[in-house]
Amino acid sequence: MGLKVYNSLSRQLEEFTPQNHGNVSIYSCGPTVYDYIHIGNARTALVTDIIRRYLVYKGYTVKLVQNLTDIDDKIINRAHTLGISASELAHANGLAYFEDTQRLGIQPADVHPKATEHITEMIDLIQILIDKGAAYVVDGSVYYRVNSFSDYGKLSRRKPEDLLAGARVEVDERKEDPRDFDMWKAAKPGEPFWESPWGQGRPGWHIECSSMAMKHLGETIDIHLGGEDLLFPHHENEIAQSELATGVPFARYWVHVAFLKIGGKRMGKSEKNFILLREALDKYPPAVIRHFLVSAHYRHPLDYSLESLQTSESALKRLNNCIDTLEKYSVDIDESKDIKNELTTEDASLVSAIEKMQTDFTQAMDTDFNTAQAVGSIFTLVSTINKSIVATNGVSNHIYTRAYKALIETCEVLGIYSNNEDVHAQTNEYLEPVLDLLLDIRQDARNRKDWDTSDMIRDRLIELNIEIQDTKDGSTWKFIS
Ligand code: AMP
Ligand code: ZN
Repeated sequence: MGLKVYNSLSRQLEEFTPQNHGNVSIYSCGPTVYDYIHIGNARTALVTDIIRRYLVYKGYTVKLVQNLTDIDDKIINRAHTLGISASELAHANGLAYFEDTQRLGIQPADVHPKATEHITEMIDLIQILIDKGAAYVVDGSVYYRVNSFSDYGKLSRRKPEDLLAGARVEVDERKEDPRDFDMWKAAKPGEPFWESPWGQGRPGWHIECSSMAMKHLGETIDIHLGGEDLLFPHHENEIAQSELATGVPFARYWVHVAFLKIGGKRMGKSEKNFILLREALDKYPPAVIRHFLVSAHYRHPLDYSLESLQTSESALKRLNNCIDTLEKYSVDIDESKDIKNELTTEDASLVSAIEKMQTDFTQAMDTDFNTAQAVGSIFTLVSTINKSIVATNGVSNHIYTRAYKALIETCEVLGIYSNNEDVHAQTNEYLEPVLDLLLDIRQDARNRKDWDTSDMIRDRLIELNIEIQDTKDGSTWKFIS
């Protein structure tokens, strides 16, 4: 059986066939960097990470693009409240996003495009839509003419009358039709802006993703990912813009991640019921949080609770003990040697348990990335091994080594077996060049006796839990908790 993916567009489980044999392109809607992320945001980021890891496990070459929305109303408003510029706020929260997600063992995407670095591409796409009669300019803003795209509503399956009823809530006299949405917003006083053929302004959120996805992955993407809240209007509008401009399907598989909830309600910034990912990571190892987040299928809502995290913690203890014990028994094995005839009954029984785990794991992940069942198959093998170890019943080291390798390989896909040192090493590897650059800039400021800049860099890093230490041999940095 091959991989099957639930496509929100067809609302069916579909056979997965990428457009270019062996290669998969993925675009995942990333964070709006106005604040630290909570573990609800982390769920969507983690599902992206695991889908990518699994596709690689299956032998695909994957190109993953995940954007950062670094200009929008929330960023402008919060920066205003804090008395800093929108770009400073977005920059700091972008760094914090990478730090938090890397602590959770999320591998960086191949490209993390920022909206503010793709303004030219957005302007070009908007111009194409204007030229095709699919957009119109009013007072320096550009609106998408929903009526020009006959397939509008195909993702959310909303009928025009439902859409009209919803859109009428906030009437904007400048729109031809209440369903139309802005692709370019004319600048308001005091807001950041860019020059455009329609005057100074900034892009709308939907055009950002259409442009960045097409720039980095081409006109048709294999998988487009995002949280379930993005299905409408964000993804519906991305389809309308992109498909009208290119005339080809924008994404072949639309994957939407269900909400992480708390007390039965969606975890969200506006609901003020969130747990920051960095707070959770200060209390629990990354593998525990990952285990909790993958304990439900990604299309099912998952409820956050302390008890669930504690359950994950004790499950992981069993897993770690098992893997650590197996590691002690590990020997070098020659994979090419056929040892079928040398197996004891106990060996043969463990071999079939290992093979069953591998089949069950693949079957679960092939069924629309069912991580809950995949974890179950791993833990079934763990119990079998633990019993076998306790019984000291003569399983050969050779077979324990096979079990060890099989567990490591499958746990690696879910990222539920990794020690903290690995995660910190990854974080350092990613941040090191950026921090070295900051230290150089600070040193340069100090040489010029520009103490304000030097102190600002030190203080702002402290806010990100990074402390600079000045020694006689130069400056170094370390994480503080
Ligand atoms: P935002 O920064 O609000 O644009 O969200 C970034 C990503 O996190 C988007 O893909 C959202 O759909 C997703 N997201 C936000 N809240 C939750 C939640 N409670 N559970 C799962 N995903 C979420
Ligand atoms: Zn998006």
